[in-house]
Amino acid sequence: MKKIVASNFKATHTRKSTKEFIDDVNGYLKESEISNDVFIFPAATALDSFEVNENLTIGAQNAYPTKSGSFTGEIGTIHLDEFGIKTILIGHSERRHILGESQKEIVIKYNYFKAMGYKIIYCFGEPLEVKNCGMTETLGYIWEQFDGIDLNYDNLILAYEPVWAIGTGISATSEDIAIIHKKIKKKINKPLLYGGSVKVCTLQDILEVPNVDGVLVGTASWDVDDFKKMIYIASKMDKDSKKLTCNTEE
Ligand code: PEP
Repeated sequence: MKKIVASNFKATHTRKSTKEFIDDVNGYLKESEISNDVFIFPAATALDSFEVNENLTIGAQNAYPTKSGSFTGEIGTIHLDEFGIKTILIGHSERRHILGESQKEIVIKYNYFKAMGYKIIYCFGEPLEVKNCGMTETLGYIWEQFDGIDLNYDNLILAYEPVWAIGTGISATSEDIAIIHKKIKKKINKPLLYGGSVKVCTLQDILEVPNVDGVLVGTASWDVDDFKKMIYIASKMDKDSKKLTCNTEE
């Protein structure tokens, strides 16, 4: 399976810079003939009807489980339909821990977008205090984040994102990732991404970890040249796994 590369813009990039970013990435995919699946999740205000290659998908970071209605500050599926958006992130740790989304609310959202046939990238991962309690607690915490989630859903991609690694500059080690991904893959046969402070220089090592099908990247993906380097590294890994340098100018 070709490695997946996804960029989460969070609350960065304007409407203008999002368009420039997407055009740049799209042009790069075209000219390089890279066929790996690439996802970009812009801010809601920057969503639009982008004309992109088949393997480049623009998704929503979030939406309310409704078509439309009285939900101040939220967007519903009419807003996504306007731009043909059919992909969504659900369960991101910033929504769980900063914005207070409960597992119950996440399940409602998941079921709603599943019923609408969306591709769902479902994020889960443990906070530091749980990691520090050991592997049994960590896995127990992770399984609870699957409570109520239909893991047989066809259009599902999973993303293991330890909370302590997101936006902190501290990535999980390859050993940590290998253990968790193996345990998850044993139970759930879905594409499984790793996310948490992935950088251009660490990407290849992470993609080489068994059972890592790709990456979900925040901070280090916001520079379009770095994101293109990540796509390049991921595409080369499908062909050969010789060590690439960080300056992947080819
Ligand atoms: C994310 O937002 O999903 C993420 C992994 O962020 P970062 O790469 O900044 O840790």
